[in-house]
Amino acid sequence: MKFSDLGLNQQLVTATEKANYQTPYPIQIEAIPAILGTQDILGIAPTGSGKTASYILPILQILQGKKENSSRNIPVLILVPTRELASQVAQVADNFSRFLNRRVKTVAVFGGVSINPQMRKLNGTDILIATPGRLLDLLSKNSLQLSQVEILVLDEMDKVLNMGFREEVNQILSEIPKKRQNILFSATMDETLEKMISSLLKDPKKITV
Ligand code: AMP
Repeated sequence: MKFSDLGLNQQLVTATEKANYQTPYPIQIEAIPAILGTQDILGIAPTGSGKTASYILPILQILQGKKENSSRNIPVLILVPTRELASQVAQVADNFSRFLNRRVKTVAVFGGVSINPQMRKLNGTDILIATPGRLLDLLSKNSLQLSQVEILVLDEMDKVLNMGFREEVNQILSEIPKKRQNILFSATMDETLEKMISSLLKDPKKITV
């Protein structure tokens, strides 16, 4: 199996080659075509499985087919539990999007640092990677809008809930259109998460690695 067998365009295949990804990991083989086909995803996958590229690559391809954003209305939202993961995902997105001929603007926002510089760079963001608390702060300051979100990624959802962000996540979800594509990853699964997922995801493709 090769990246070019998964429906990715030549620019993104080149991006994987430049990253020294020789063959796709199992999660990528399953997730990439499904996301390109606009399916919801439920992935039970730990860090190290290659989950980040499994959603970033198809999201970049989907964005490439849309016109560049010039507003503070965000089309792709990725919620993560920590600033470390936010920075890591942003790095992966930037690394791959360099090979596209469409400009893709990725911004990471997280707590523990001053909010003003983050507020200033949000205009024209295509992919926003955010921790829940800081995202709510930015929303309350009207620094961005979520009424046009088309793709929502919830990464390391078990960790998001374990860190006590449940209420924040619900509040964020209430600001996002119901009609959207959902991609959810969690290293573990339990009853609380299962309940939340059943109301969130529409007929998801389940992937366990
Ligand atoms: P992740 O699970 O997304 O944190 O990725 C774990 C590590 O695997 C990262 O360092 C990626 O750069 C690397 N990686 C992801 N997919 C591949 C692949 N298909 N081939 C080689 N390395 C990969």
